[in-house]
Amino acid sequence: MRILDPAGTVLRDWRPAPDERANPEIDRGQLRDLLLGDLDVRWGREVTRVVPGTGDGALVHFADGRREAFDLVVGADGARSRVRPAVSAVTPRYTGVTSVETSLDDVDTRHPDLARLVGDGSVSAYGVNRSLTAQRNSGGHVKVYATFRAPLDRYAGWDMTDVEAVRTGLLALFEGWAPPVLDLLRHGTAFVPRPHYTLPVSHTWTHVSGVTLLGDAAHLMPPLGAGANLAMLDGAELAEAIVADPDDLDRAVRGFEKRMWARAGRWAELTTAGLQRLVSPDPAAAVALFDEVQPS
Ligand SMILES: Cc1cc2nc3c(=O)[nH]c(=O)nc-3n(C[C@H](O)[C@H](O)[C@H](O)COP(=O)(O)OP(=O)(O)OC[C@H]3O[C@@H](n4cnc5c(N)ncnc54)[C@H](O)[C@@H]3O)c2cc1C
Repeated sequence: MRILDPAGTVLRDWRPAPDERANPEIDRGQLRDLLLGDLDVRWGREVTRVVPGTGDGALVHFADGRREAFDLVVGADGARSRVRPAVSAVTPRYTGVTSVETSLDDVDTRHPDLARLVGDGSVSAYGVNRSLTAQRNSGGHVKVYATFRAPLDRYAGWDMTDVEAVRTGLLALFEGWAPPVLDLLRHGTAFVPRPHYTLPVSHTWTHVSGVTLLGDAAHLMPPLGAGANLAMLDGAELAEAIVADPDDLDRAVRGFEKRMWARAGRWAELTTAGLQRLVSPDPAAAVALFDEVQPS
């Protein structure tokens, strides 16, 4: 992990020790394939809402008009969960921070200077209320995030299919930054806006028999490297709780929810404070944050 200032000066350069096993990284698609394995997934069945029963279980309404009853519905359907309203009236709120994602293909052969800049891990540069981060994925693919503070409506009107107009807008936003850093945007192939929404730091709900939430549906927080990990841990713990208490599904789910809420609350606090420092008027606050979390 390498940290630069907007002039391209290297401020920090951390390399893992050969036996370091913390913070492993994996491409999103590869992780998904690994987790799905031989599961019988019914793709394309969009859920529109979930109605808890008067006793046990819940009824799932699908977009194709079908309905099905289940003993337990687990809303693992992300930030815009359609299951969430069955247990909670809370909706995600915009943090004031947006990322625009782009990527570089075949970086080692097509952009060797950028390949060196990104190295084997990631590089980030922090300026006033904005940052540029590039993260190496597998197969010579690099993901780039331009992150900045902006009202939600300022970029709502951008036509993301007009790649050159978006590029020009982003380069204007990062005006004055060093050309080698800006090359990350100059060579980006397409742009995807990712306004960051969050749920309240301590999002809990009164237990509803037959329905629960996990992952972003339960605890959407700033994307500081915790969300996917928490979603996987939630899923594993819910499964363990049910297996350990097969005679009382409600009791098992209640216990799981309590543990998930406590853990997610801690991470939501950490990542919310982290986002304030990473996208702040004082770029030195961002660098200091990494000093606190990196092994020296
Ligand atoms: C830019 C960015 C970078 C990030 N980087 C990291 C990182 O490095 N490490 C990390 O741990 N986390 C990271 N995160 C956070 C991470 O992506 C999420 O926390 C994680 O994906 C949450 O997993 P989930 O399964 O709860 O929800 P999701 O991954 O959102 O999955 C929800 C699933 O539900 C499906 N779905 C949604 N609605 C419906 C419906 N109505 N009917 C049926 N299916 C539906 C979706 O198609 C999707 O498959 C990042 C997030 C962002 C935005």
